[in-house]
Amino acid sequence: MSAPAAAPPQPLPNTIAALRQQFAALGAQPAHAQRLLRHWAQAQPLDAGKRRVEDFLPKPLREALPALQRQLEGLVSLRSSHPGEDGSARLLVDLADGQAVESVLLPRDGLCVSTQVGCAVGCVFCMTGKEGLIRQVGSAEIVAQVALARRQRVVKKVVFMGMGEPAHNLDNVLEAIELLGTGGAIGHKNLVFSTVGDARVFERLPQGTVKPALALSLHSTRADLRAELLPRAPRIAPADLVDAGERYARATGYPIQYQWTLLDGVNDSEEEMDGIVRLLQGKYALMNLIPYNTVPELPYRRPAWDKAAAMARRLHQRGVLTKLRHSAGQDVDGGCGQLRARAADGSQA
Ligand code: SF4
Repeated sequence: MSAPAAAPPQPLPNTIAALRQQFAALGAQPAHAQRLLRHWAQAQPLDAGKRRVEDFLPKPLREALPALQRQLEGLVSLRSSHPGEDGSARLLVDLADGQAVESVLLPRDGLCVSTQVGCAVGCVFCMTGKEGLIRQVGSAEIVAQVALARRQRVVKKVVFMGMGEPAHNLDNVLEAIELLGTGGAIGHKNLVFSTVGDARVFERLPQGTVKPALALSLHSTRADLRAELLPRAPRIAPADLVDAGERYARATGYPIQYQWTLLDGVNDSEEEMDGIVRLLQGKYALMNLIPYNTVPELPYRRPAWDKAAAMARRLHQRGVLTKLRHSAGQDVDGGCGQLRARAADGSQA
């Protein structure tokens, strides 16, 4: 008689909800679970402060702490780090199943995290968009990117602007935001949810106990051009997007950040600048102009810095608070999705 087939290995929990269940099965009360998750999100050992509350943890949970520590640290691992001259560093981060995402250490204690492997929006200027969606990043894997970064340096701000569209992975992203905002030592307005705009975002974000700041990727004030550049973004008219953003800004008390990737000869015209003034003048908003990080594989080009600076100045003079931003890490040739793409084709690891 042949031996029964071994049960297939269970995938490790990659959501915070599943971790809470795992802790509860070991006898943890909700307060115990929150404390362990807080230590982890802050990159402290799970048994930090064990002369206090952990002394009173149920025995099975106490005994499981070393294994839990290894499990949580195994959610992500650093494959490679690519420092830039501006104080940023792009990190290629492996997930436990062999997929990889990118995080970026930003100047001034910021961190940009990825929320999906690949992305379904398909922005024509983005390497991540070329892959389509491969899988969702679990809420625990999102927080694990923060814990990993914190082992390298202080993180006081987390922006959800890496690979993926957070609105397409809303439950996981909001669960991560909730933990980071309640136990992760990140101020709520320093959690920045970035989206191309999706009705579900405007419904769900105001309901959370932690209300993040919102960044909306606009890229064009012309609905037809926006549909070309962001082919699978929800078809919300730019004016309606701005109206929804304005309501959220007034409700939370922090301005909406509009993201505008400047593509030479595509969305840097006078007509677009007039459109921005029409939409944003008098709004509780900040316009971030981000000259495109040229990718050799794609046909778009970065406008000259002087031209972009003049545009930012003119918008500012016309009543739109505008900042000209560097796209962090461009000097290491690692715009969003490029490190992963290079690693996948074997040309960089
Ligand atoms: Fe997705 Fe963002 Fe890339 Fe657009 S720019 S395809 S939303 S990752």
